[in-house]
Amino acid sequence: MKILVINSGSSSIKYQLLDMADESILGTGLVERIGEAQGTLTHKAHPGTDAEAVVKLEQPIPDHGVGLQLAIDLLSTGDNAVCNREEIGAVGHRVVAGGPFNAPVIIEESMWPDLTETERLAPLHNPANLGGAKEAAKLFPGVPQVLVFDTAFHQTMPPHAYMYAIPYEYYEKDRIRRYGAHGTSHKYVAGECARLMGKAVEDINLITIHMGNGASMAAVKNGRCVDTSMGLTPLEGLVMGTRCGDLDPAVHNYLAVNRGLDVATIDNILHKESGLKGLCGYGDMRDVHAAVDRGDERAKLALEVQTYRTRKYIGAYTAALGHVDGVVFTAGIGENDDIVRAKTIEGLESFGMKIDVEANAIRSKEARKISTADSTVAIWVIPTNEELAIAREALALVK
Ligand code: ADP
Repeated sequence: MKILVINSGSSSIKYQLLDMADESILGTGLVERIGEAQGTLTHKAHPGTDAEAVVKLEQPIPDHGVGLQLAIDLLSTGDNAVCNREEIGAVGHRVVAGGPFNAPVIIEESMWPDLTETERLAPLHNPANLGGAKEAAKLFPGVPQVLVFDTAFHQTMPPHAYMYAIPYEYYEKDRIRRYGAHGTSHKYVAGECARLMGKAVEDINLITIHMGNGASMAAVKNGRCVDTSMGLTPLEGLVMGTRCGDLDPAVHNYLAVNRGLDVATIDNILHKESGLKGLCGYGDMRDVHAAVDRGDERAKLALEVQTYRTRKYIGAYTAALGHVDGVVFTAGIGENDDIVRAKTIEGLESFGMKIDVEANAIRSKEARKISTADSTVAIWVIPTNEELAIAREALALVK
């Protein structure tokens, strides 16, 4: 079966068509600037192979339906076609916030009230994610539309991990609790780590660190998430590119009273002007390193704050798990940045975590172990693959 995976953003659509017979990528692409005067579409047929063909379009793309139609045309018609449209047996959609949904679902009409309800949990993402699914349903009548929620993996967290200590009515009436995010990635790398360690995921405890522009961690006990660092929204937890992560909630009031800022402005500062960018002016970790190399003291501080926060969470999750078999780094920074990995694990020898300097320095797209032979906790770098994870979930459901 061939499965189309879609990640629909507010003005973009990322897509990938996979042949599930061998999990190969037949085509992939990115539609951007939807709704602007000029849109773009960058498409690759057979990416990463000798047969790779790249197509670039520049034209107005008024809405997501038009963007998706262009993508499907490129995948299924013309010189670079990689499939017949009829071969697409399911469409998998990434959805950031699932609220009460604790597993992937095939969309049914009756679900829409509950699905629409999730939009307030991720107002920047969910309306676009679900809108993409609606458009795909129109373009592929009768083909199962599978929603894979970024929060689903975290639904196994016990109440003591997901409850905030605020009046209970806000949980009951407003569903305010911790939901987490990046769950598809945490689940995927936990499974891969177990496979690489030659163990069943049910038999080991892992700490997974997804560190990209957005960053989160999960404590995974016997294959089930028992804690994660993101909360009601993806703002809580680690220091991110532009997001503050953990913060004294009284900072809101302090800024409102002392600076006269309104709630929307404060929210914008914490989401878009904070994190690495807030500390040193650079939200991209590569720029932070370049600044450190130039002797920029603020960039050094940003790196220290970022890695210290993650290290603190490793300590917390070691306590939450009781025993740790492996730590996994993944996503843009986790997969590529040996300096961040080394600084994060620094000083954790008494936790049984020791990085092998040479193994850590190797640059590769492959999964690899970077701990020393005498490190009792295995430390891994494992590339995430959210598209494949979504396609596998969709396949399992439609089968
Ligand atoms: P997103 O959350 O947008 O999916 P990514 O997982 O692509 O983010 O991660 C983006 C982050 O990864 C950026 O901070 C970028 O600097 C960092 N990154 C990517 N490549 C490298 C690299 N070679 N070295 C250090 N950091 C990198």
